[in-house]
Amino acid sequence: MSGTTFRIPFNVLAPGAERAEIDAAIARVVDSGWFVLGPEVAAFEREFAAAAGAAHVVGVNTGTDAIALALMALGIGPGDEVITSPLSAAYSALAVHMTGARPVFADIEPERLTIDPAAVIAAITSRTRAILPVHLYGQPADMRALHDIASRYGLAVVEDACQAHLATCAGTPVGRGSAATAYSFYPTKNLGALGDGGAIATDDAALADRLRRLRNGGQSSRYHHDETGVNSRLDELQAAILRTRLGRLPAVTSARRRLAAGYRAGLHGGPVQVPREFDAGHVYHLFAVLTPERDRFQAHLRTAGIETLIHYPVPIPRQPAAAAWTPAACPVTDRVTAEVVSLPLYTTLSAAAQAEVVAAVRTFSR
Ligand SMILES: *Cc1c(COP(=O)(O)O)cnc(C)c1O
Repeated sequence: MSGTTFRIPFNVLAPGAERAEIDAAIARVVDSGWFVLGPEVAAFEREFAAAAGAAHVVGVNTGTDAIALALMALGIGPGDEVITSPLSAAYSALAVHMTGARPVFADIEPERLTIDPAAVIAAITSRTRAILPVHLYGQPADMRALHDIASRYGLAVVEDACQAHLATCAGTPVGRGSAATAYSFYPTKNLGALGDGGAIATDDAALADRLRRLRNGGQSSRYHHDETGVNSRLDELQAAILRTRLGRLPAVTSARRRLAAGYRAGLHGGPVQVPREFDAGHVYHLFAVLTPERDRFQAHLRTAGIETLIHYPVPIPRQPAAAAWTPAACPVTDRVTAEVVSLPLYTTLSAAAQAEVVAAVRTFSR
């Protein structure tokens, strides 16, 4: 598909109406002469904590690092197992691997597409230390069941909320009741930087302190390294840009939900399957549909000038990179990765453009 220009692209990342605000934020940082872990990062951490309903936020370099550092700060490492979803960006499992622990996969629920609590129980061994659910496409996993399992088996929960900024689960912000929650600010995310960025949210002050040391080489004070941390810092430019965008995030989230509702109404009874919404707290990072004739479906939309993408084409345990990990039977994920396809959804997608996408989907004949 590369090289093709689409009349309706999958996403639009260049800043539009907010350009002047972003330029002003960048100029403020350039003029300040302070570029890494400074006042913009500290302010963003406070503001994002308030928005996410968490006591503490620690900014880091990526969402992947946010997951890995959260696990490391909980003391998870070599010899340990972390149970996670086979349907996600591979980075969720790679983050587990970075700690020295082993990712173990539990299959997803067929309609919710998030980790199946029954499969989690089946995957628990004497080495299991944590559960890493992924709020896929912005829909919260079944956190009530997962917290229940975690407390029954004495496991930590770290939530991968890289696609779920401001999502709520039964009315409560995602992350509540878990040890830590990881966010990504990769440019395509609901809250995106103009580069890489990530953060960990936690209600545990001691864990937050440890994370602040770990992201900065394990330093307890300048040039004094009490433990082996990493270099994973959020920079001032990204923090300043994220602060300007954070103010608009509630409106962005409402707009995403409105577009999703438009797709749901428009595609009802049509030729593709639309996954159920389990919680009104879904933030629609992506709008995925399923069809067993995906190649033909994508070609049909391409002919209409509409770009679609696949999230994700390969179950993580089927990736060659996962060969050394515990093999996992994930029949639901196998089917979903063969059928799932994401439609364009972004705040500048006009009602007319969305109507065109809906019309094109509806004229697809199976
Ligand atoms: C984006 C993403 C990540 C990784 O975040 P980065 O900032 O790219 O490292 C991890 N998990 C999920 C579910 C993601 O969507």
